[in-house]
Amino acid sequence: MKRLAILGATGSIGTQALDVVAANPGLFAVEVLSAHRNSALLIEQARKFKPAVVVVTDDAKYKEVKDALLMLPIKVLGGKQALVEAVQSPTIDIVLGAIVGFAGLQSMLAAIEAGKTIALANKETLVVAGELVMQKAAEKNVSIIPVDSEHSAIFQCLVGEDPAKVEKVILTASGGPFLGRKPNYLVNVKASHALQHPNWSMGAKISIDSATLMNKGLEMIEAKWLFRLANEQVDVIVHPQSIIHSMVQFTDGSVKAQMGLPDMKLPIQYALAYPERIVNSYKRVDFREHAKLTFEPADYKTFRNLAIARDAMVRGGNAPCVLNAANEVMVLAFLQNKVGFLEMSDMIDKTLESVTFVEHPSLDDCRTSDAEAREYAAEFVKKSQLSMY
Ligand code: NAD
Ligand code: MG
Repeated sequence: MKRLAILGATGSIGTQALDVVAANPGLFAVEVLSAHRNSALLIEQARKFKPAVVVVTDDAKYKEVKDALLMLPIKVLGGKQALVEAVQSPTIDIVLGAIVGFAGLQSMLAAIEAGKTIALANKETLVVAGELVMQKAAEKNVSIIPVDSEHSAIFQCLVGEDPAKVEKVILTASGGPFLGRKPNYLVNVKASHALQHPNWSMGAKISIDSATLMNKGLEMIEAKWLFRLANEQVDVIVHPQSIIHSMVQFTDGSVKAQMGLPDMKLPIQYALAYPERIVNSYKRVDFREHAKLTFEPADYKTFRNLAIARDAMVRGGNAPCVLNAANEVMVLAFLQNKVGFLEMSDMIDKTLESVTFVEHPSLDDCRTSDAEAREYAAEFVKKSQLSMY
């Protein structure tokens, strides 16, 4: 029986993780559930899965959850710091990081510090502080098992292989809802349209990131740290069918791919069960229904976020952290119709130019850079709105 802490339980990844748990009652027990604002769903999940601890990170929602669970033997905690304490409990084996954005960093670090196995969906953790996180994981002898489908694919391809024999990894990208579109079209797209992903149903932030290809940029950085690669060893190819989830090319020219239908429950269950594989009855790939698997280069010119992210990865230091913060501000502004689709890249670029470069950021530097970047980015959003009137 593996005892789980599921952080971000009410999100797209969190709810699917709970589906996996519910389908395998003999394998997993839920010890901790956390959510930010969706108190109604958190209460429902707590009643069903009976964790020992529930953490509500948004203080405004604490009382409601506490009152609702009063009669159950569940400890309800409120606030960010409570999350740090909850993940360190000796009764937890695996911490699933499924919080979105920079907000997930602190609890991931705390879980690593406590020696917990990490199932990592929160890619921003590695984008923001990849070097520090991997260092700490090595120090504490902690395994970080990716949940992101591309990284799960690479991880699966690497089982039994010598990491020194990897020539490069090839991340596949679906291309998102605007594949093949040009700037003259993108200039007018709205959030409602960008949220419609052809192959995956996901949270709002990652859906917008998939539409701008920032998601693939963040994933390049995530792959670099997770698999300890040089920048040149991280490649991207557009594969619109999302059947190949990513590939590894070895020094003898051989390429391994991991395939499956696009369903996040697969990489989630792989990460939670690793090194076992769980039997399930999900729909299988029928290759007669997928007669064509196609590939094309990514359009770095139109989807500038991908180029900006790659440059930030190559530049290193605090650049990916600044990139992430600026992007979080832009995605929110875009969702609120405050900036246009193409403007997001301009403003992320400007933020990267504005924030002081730090070559070897400490954790404090990451926090400072994140805050500084958010300020600049918000300022750019404000200025662009003013200029509209
Ligand atoms: P989501 O928006 O659906 O859910 C986010 C979860 O985090 C919610 O439970 C929410 O309560 C919690 N949360 C939000 N802000 C918080 C804060 N400030 N403090 C604490 N908790 C907070 O997001 P998602 O789509 O499930 O994505 C979660 C993570 O997994 C992201 O990093 C994303 O990039 C990654 N990921 C998601 C998918 C997917 O299919 N959804 C695929 C690969 C990777
Ligand atoms: Mg992914």
